[in-house]
Amino acid sequence: MVQLSNDCFAFGGKLMPVEEGVALIASRVRAVEGVETLPLHLCDNRVLADDLRAPVPLPLFNNSAVDGYALRSADLPINAAQSFPIAARVQAGSAADPIAPGTAVRIFTGAPMPPGADTVFMQEDVELAGHEVILPAGLKPGANMRPAGEDVALGALAIPAGTRLRPQHVALAAALGLTTLTVRRRIRVAIFSTGNEVVAPGEARSAAQLFDSNRFMLAALLRRLHCEVEDLGILRDERGPLAIALQQAATTHDLVLTSGGVSAGEEDHVRAGVESIGSLVLWSMAIKPGRPVAMGVIAGTPFIGLPGNPVASFVTFAYVVRPTILALSGARPEPFHALPVRSNFTYKKKKGRREYVRASLNRLADGAVEATKFPREGAGLLSSLAETDGLVELGEDIERVSPGDSVNFLSYASLI
Ligand code: AMP
Ligand code: MG
Repeated sequence: MVQLSNDCFAFGGKLMPVEEGVALIASRVRAVEGVETLPLHLCDNRVLADDLRAPVPLPLFNNSAVDGYALRSADLPINAAQSFPIAARVQAGSAADPIAPGTAVRIFTGAPMPPGADTVFMQEDVELAGHEVILPAGLKPGANMRPAGEDVALGALAIPAGTRLRPQHVALAAALGLTTLTVRRRIRVAIFSTGNEVVAPGEARSAAQLFDSNRFMLAALLRRLHCEVEDLGILRDERGPLAIALQQAATTHDLVLTSGGVSAGEEDHVRAGVESIGSLVLWSMAIKPGRPVAMGVIAGTPFIGLPGNPVASFVTFAYVVRPTILALSGARPEPFHALPVRSNFTYKKKKGRREYVRASLNRLADGAVEATKFPREGAGLLSSLAETDGLVELGEDIERVSPGDSVNFLSYASLI
């Protein structure tokens, strides 16, 4: 387990700007120890442990980018088309002999360049005349050839340590001839829901109780971040048992995550429970929906208490839990890049706070992408998440949005 100091989430200000929280997590949470070497097909979505330097160049050898005719650049026709004897033929996968001066070589995509040849005419651009090929003037030296190492030079940094591997990284490792990669071990997360009003789906429910949805949402989000999730059920609003359960979870997991029970003003069972076994600070984040979030340390292990409202839980997951998981897994920070779309709605907000508006996208006749706000705003409305495409991000400085304004949009797919 990673050992964090009790004051590691301390924060001096009153209202915490979102980016400050994200930066604080990235600087204070350390990566877990432990790596494993896995076959490539198991490496997608894992975090690369060490810098990967190219043991070979890519491409491995000079080769043709097209089907056509290879030539020495010294022989290129300059002012007028010229006829060359076709002296050889080289296919992908076959070795090539050196090119004789004054000749052309029939070549195919991916075939090695005959030593000496450095330019390829596309077959669409030439004329054939018996055993000769007529090549037009004006082609640049080096055209249509892929030089060895142009993609990745021998010894170059192919994939830096801390990269969350995507399919294209796995492909790059395979192209370099590797069969395994050394990755960080997966992050073990314990999740709980809290609150006397919450029961598990399928269980008997009293008139005043609701079915737990947060645990299922958080578990699914964490699995998409490739965590090992242990679902530890629902904690009643009782400080003693709650503290014992959280303490046990902290000793066997890298992160303990709860939802509910930390909103200012309520009985604060989670807060009191954590404080009895570790430390806790409430981050009043300048974010809507979403504040506050409880950040704690129990036996050296980070603890995060998300708000109970499902939409607030979802948004704060993106800004607090995700960066924590990335930091624990030794991954480099992955900031979100909201992209501009055109608003078709009016919205007023407070300055100094960041707000997220659930919205659906559609493409207009003029090619612009338009965002339509979900008609209702409650932080408890799960349908508002289920029926939209993502979040319009309204920055701290914005006070008003009008139809036609450019606004920044984050798709749900980009949030995990
Ligand atoms: P709290 O943060 O405990 O004040 O809860 C805020 C709202 O979220 C309340 O309406 C709770 O009933 C609801 N809530 C809390 N936990 C969950 C949960 N696990 N699933 C769905 N709703 C929840
Ligand atoms: Mg509650």
